[in-house]
Amino acid sequence: MGEAANKLVIRNIGLVLSGRLEQPILDADCIVCRNGTIAAVGYEQDLDTGQADTVVDARGVTVAPGLIDSHVHPVIGDYTPRQQQLNWIDSCLHGGVTTMISAGEVHMPGRPKDLVGLKAMAIASQRWYENLRPSGVKVHAGAPVIEHGMEEEDFRDLADAGVKLLGEVGLGSVKTGETAQQMVAWARKYGIQSTIHTGGPSIPGSGLIDKDVVLAADADIIGHINGGHTALPDDQIVCLCEQCRRGIELVHNGNERSALLALRTARELDQLERVILGTDAPAGSGVQPLGILRMIAMLSSLGDVPAEIAVCFATGNTARMRGFDCGIIEPGRAADFVILDRAQHAPGANILESIQQGNLPGVGMTVIDGIIRSHRSRNTPPATTLPEVVTG
Ligand SMILES: [Zn+2]
Repeated sequence: MGEAANKLVIRNIGLVLSGRLEQPILDADCIVCRNGTIAAVGYEQDLDTGQADTVVDARGVTVAPGLIDSHVHPVIGDYTPRQQQLNWIDSCLHGGVTTMISAGEVHMPGRPKDLVGLKAMAIASQRWYENLRPSGVKVHAGAPVIEHGMEEEDFRDLADAGVKLLGEVGLGSVKTGETAQQMVAWARKYGIQSTIHTGGPSIPGSGLIDKDVVLAADADIIGHINGGHTALPDDQIVCLCEQCRRGIELVHNGNERSALLALRTARELDQLERVILGTDAPAGSGVQPLGILRMIAMLSSLGDVPAEIAVCFATGNTARMRGFDCGIIEPGRAADFVILDRAQHAPGANILESIQQGNLPGVGMTVIDGIIRSHRSRNTPPATTLPEVVTG
């Protein structure tokens, strides 16, 4: 783990999903990776596939970018105190997720809320996930929850120490638009991305964040615009989509009807590039190892979105909004993939049709930084055809 294989070739691919809205399906049957980075994508006959350390025969199935969960609440290692679960991140890898983004390590027992303590924990969290990737999954963490009394220098200190994210604005004591706006602006000034809790309280002790607070705060991501779980009224969701250009995050642990409303509104505005997906797990609803795949299938089937477009919501859209080097299959990007096929006995002529009919695909393999991290998923329904390692 962590050591990138020299050369990985994935050949005999039936369908390459790029993760890019502009061209979600690529003309290609082969991907060549070197040192953890995509080197070439195209037809095998045109590519240099010789002397590979690892060759994967995709056996005609689908390769997509590894999925990105834009909204998780990790705490430490592969353990969550929220539901007392071990290996939840590994379980999500088996659901095709190769990158996770913390929306705050809020479930840490005894989480410090004083300024020194919250800054120290944010820096420590960033470090321990940087230093240890559970099962190879890239967990971007160290996302402090802002509290009253923070000053500009606190954000500068955090940025200097390597903190790149804010936890959900609104989960701490800052709940008014004016204060949130000031702190989000300081964070942005020092290169720290922000997200805001949207909707009713998530657990006793948290509060309502309505559209006026969200618009005033102007965070980079409208975190769970479909609530976590409690959604805002429909007119407020539509208003948030229309009145700003920030990320529209749809989460599994939210209101599905509201997610579909936000999706339709984004489509009417011709702004599907703003739609990104998360689970908001671990949470009161638990952990959903297949949460991102379930969101893709739900939005594709009930929201009438082609499956290859819904995949972009959990890959290229998120990567571009977050400034990541993964999420899109093109040379120069991280070699993070999920290899998928239509689930056994799923209706539909192919994998895309089966997803558009609301079925989950089967995961056959995951790759992170050019290294195979998992084989046949223990969590998805079994894939019809599995890829095979032929060398390596
Ligand atoms: Zn939230």
